[in-house]
Amino acid sequence: MRYERQIIIDGWGTGGQEKLKKSHVGIAGIGGLGSPAAIYLAAAGVGRLSICDYQDLEISNLNRQVLYITDDVGKSKVQAARQHLTALNPEIDVIAHEEPVSSENIADIFGDCDLIVDCLDNPETRLIINEYCVKQSIAFVHAGVREFYGQVMLINPPLTPCLACFFDAGGFADDGPIPICGSTAGVLGSLEANLAQRWLMGMEPGSDGVFFSVDLTTMEINRIEMTKNPDCPVCG
Ligand SMILES: [Zn+2]
Repeated sequence: MRYERQIIIDGWGTGGQEKLKKSHVGIAGIGGLGSPAAIYLAAAGVGRLSICDYQDLEISNLNRQVLYITDDVGKSKVQAARQHLTALNPEIDVIAHEEPVSSENIADIFGDCDLIVDCLDNPETRLIINEYCVKQSIAFVHAGVREFYGQVMLINPPLTPCLACFFDAGGFADDGPIPICGSTAGVLGSLEANLAQRWLMGMEPGSDGVFFSVDLTTMEINRIEMTKNPDCPVCG
């Protein structure tokens, strides 16, 4: 009954639902992008979610981090997230990792995952995830968000370009809080969940390796077909 309305989608069926139930998805960062991504993956019945974040909830997070309530301020995000996601869907396992992702611990946190969702807010950790996923041939969904703009891409090594093929970590100036409209993070995090669950069920793979640039001031989504960079330091 819980999944009735999605099982009746053409191409989903009980077969797709069983695939989601058997899937293990890692979510790196459980903030503005991670909240909607985790909510929709949990609600859809992904059997295991490994969530990772090291921060406590601050009141300024609440304009976009819709997994939390005001009473959670000051609490560990992953612990509060685990509680809310389990309350949303008690049929799934939520594993909480309260630590920053590093190249030393990433295999312990996400080594068993079928797919990782990048919901981070810093380029350095994104590139750690990218490098790990390329080495282990694990698919991951990248997204980023700022103001009313965002980007999302499913990276499936070794078939698609990787993040380091085109991502310049040095291009980001760290000059204070990133301005973000909460609903923009909601759209991009939801797109991540959508790409992830379709990939897990083996549905139409036409979006693998396509960079989607989203502009919510004009409601335009641009598809950019990325190509592998032969000089990429990670996958080249
Ligand atoms: Zn690459």
